[in-house]
Amino acid sequence: MSAMHEFATKLLSHLVTPAFVLDANSKVIIWNKAVERLTGTPATEVLGTDRHWHAFYHEPRPCLADLVVSGKTDGIEKLYSEYRDPNGTSCGLYAENWVKMPRTGAQLYLSINAGPVFDDNGRLIAVVETLNDLTVRKKAELALERLASQDGLTGLSNRRVLDETVDREWNRLARDRAPLSFLLIDVDCFKRYNDALGHQAGDECLRTVAKALGGAVMRPADLVARYGGEEFAAVLPGTDMPGAMVVAKRIGAAVVAQAIPHPDSVAGECVTVSIGVATELPQRGEEYKRLIKAADAALYRAKAHGRNRVECF
Ligand code: GH3
Ligand code: MG
Ligand code: MG
Repeated sequence: MSAMHEFATKLLSHLVTPAFVLDANSKVIIWNKAVERLTGTPATEVLGTDRHWHAFYHEPRPCLADLVVSGKTDGIEKLYSEYRDPNGTSCGLYAENWVKMPRTGAQLYLSINAGPVFDDNGRLIAVVETLNDLTVRKKAELALERLASQDGLTGLSNRRVLDETVDREWNRLARDRAPLSFLLIDVDCFKRYNDALGHQAGDECLRTVAKALGGAVMRPADLVARYGGEEFAAVLPGTDMPGAMVVAKRIGAAVVAQAIPHPDSVAGECVTVSIGVATELPQRGEEYKRLIKAADAALYRAKAHGRNRVECF
């Protein structure tokens, strides 16, 4: 080994960035100290083998460097949550992924670069894979997303998500020619509840009601959100009017089942809700706001007819 070669190997070995190098046959020729620390896998276990995937995954699968070695990127979308392949494998690949490290047990969000090395004749002789632990940044990003989409008091989706969902589902169902149902759910005599028991008890009541709503709406495509104040909404894609009435009645019963005492309600001894139900067969171009208006009109009728009840438009 020349002095220069030895120096280069040492340099890579002590690089602070986790890195390993494969030869043109996908055999590990360098496994640096930082990747030993990241994966908990010592170089002695992987050097000279093609078992480097063991350090990152429980099941056999290619690492990003293997894709560059083979020149094949089909199926990359199944291997990574994010990836970029701007100029094909000849210029290397970039990807990001959540990885549960088999050795350390740590759940990490890694960004990964895999770059090819060619000899003077343009033949691939090695691929360098470098890894960056972006877990802290990714978690902060996810927390921010949650903050932007969740209602702070109840943990339900907020108004922004609700509006986006109705808009999106309206357009999707116009294509699929399927109905969209919308429920407006309003706590009965809630001002009196606050007046009698205080605002904090009111907040606690809204949390309990929200939990009951979440439990009563079961299909994964359905959305329950806080509409504002003591009003909630449910979006039920592909659900017709009879189906929506069933869900609305289940919601009403779920709130009653919480048996939250209400000292001053005109609708009973406990906290109840009134629900307005509207269903439309969305038409392309027509505004979805009509659906919400219809649910609002139905809710108004439920209030006028004595509260603690479901009315449809
Ligand atoms: P109705 O049966 O007709 O719906 O009567 P209501 O008293 O529920 O309706 P109204 O709109 O008159 O009052 C709603 C009350 O909800 C007034 C407002 O102070 C209270 N409220 C809105 N948001 C919150 C909240 O986040 N926390 C608490 N504690 N109260 C809230
Ligand atoms: Mg209200
Ligand atoms: Mg109310």
